[in-house]
Amino acid sequence: MVNKQTATCLVDGQVYAISDGLFLSDLETKLVNIIKNDYPKATKNSFICNSHLLNYRLERMRRQQRRDERAHEKINRKMSQALVKDDFQLTDVYDKMESTITVGERIADAVAKYAGSWSFIIIFSGFMIVWMILNTVGIFGHKFDPFPFILLNLFLSMVAALQAPLIMMSQNRAAEYDRLEAKNDYHVNLKSEEEIRLLHSKLDHIIADDNPNLFESQRLTVEVMGEMVNQLTETRQQLELLKASQDETDKAVHAEKSKK
Ligand SMILES: [Zn+2]
Repeated sequence: MVNKQTATCLVDGQVYAISDGLFLSDLETKLVNIIKNDYPKATKNSFICNSHLLNYRLERMRRQQRRDERAHEKINRKMSQALVKDDFQLTDVYDKMESTITVGERIADAVAKYAGSWSFIIIFSGFMIVWMILNTVGIFGHKFDPFPFILLNLFLSMVAALQAPLIMMSQNRAAEYDRLEAKNDYHVNLKSEEEIRLLHSKLDHIIADDNPNLFESQRLTVEVMGEMVNQLTETRQQLELLKASQDETDKAVHAEKSKK
């Protein structure tokens, strides 16, 4: 069937000039596979005409597009699934601590804050000096805590004894706050890491698949356009040939008429 000049299209079984189509051996593998899906008997020596080939090329591009879309969907789904994981539940540590604080803890915080300030040191020193002066000089000749100020000592010991646990309570709260914040930071890091990982896979997908696919579609477009140009040129040549023969016929008719 296949000879030098014409060939039979495997799709519609019609005979075409070889220039109006291609043999499967000249096509790329993916395209051949799509054609072989529809025509399992096709071999590499089978011929396909340009118009049917164009349909298969368009089908190939459509399939490529669908595959790309599916890959994108998959990555996006993975991304949203990963980011709603419980691990990434971030909390506002300050709000959480404030909502669970008791009255005692609030007092401990206030005391620790005041006891650790210069105003406390100055006021307390002033109080002790006044106490000592009053009991050295005596008010109205009476000293209610004479030297060595045993009552003042007792008072100072009481303040120190009470202050220590209050400050420790406040410090415990501060430590708890730090602990929660560190935990929160850890989760933030985990989330960022996961996001970066997913972004990487998305980028990899774009570089590894999308770009080559894009080039592939461009190549296909150029190929199809090239074929169209070839066909146009051929048609034009045939037209010119037709026109030339028409002119010759006209001339011959004219010459015959003038002879008569
Ligand atoms: Zn055909």
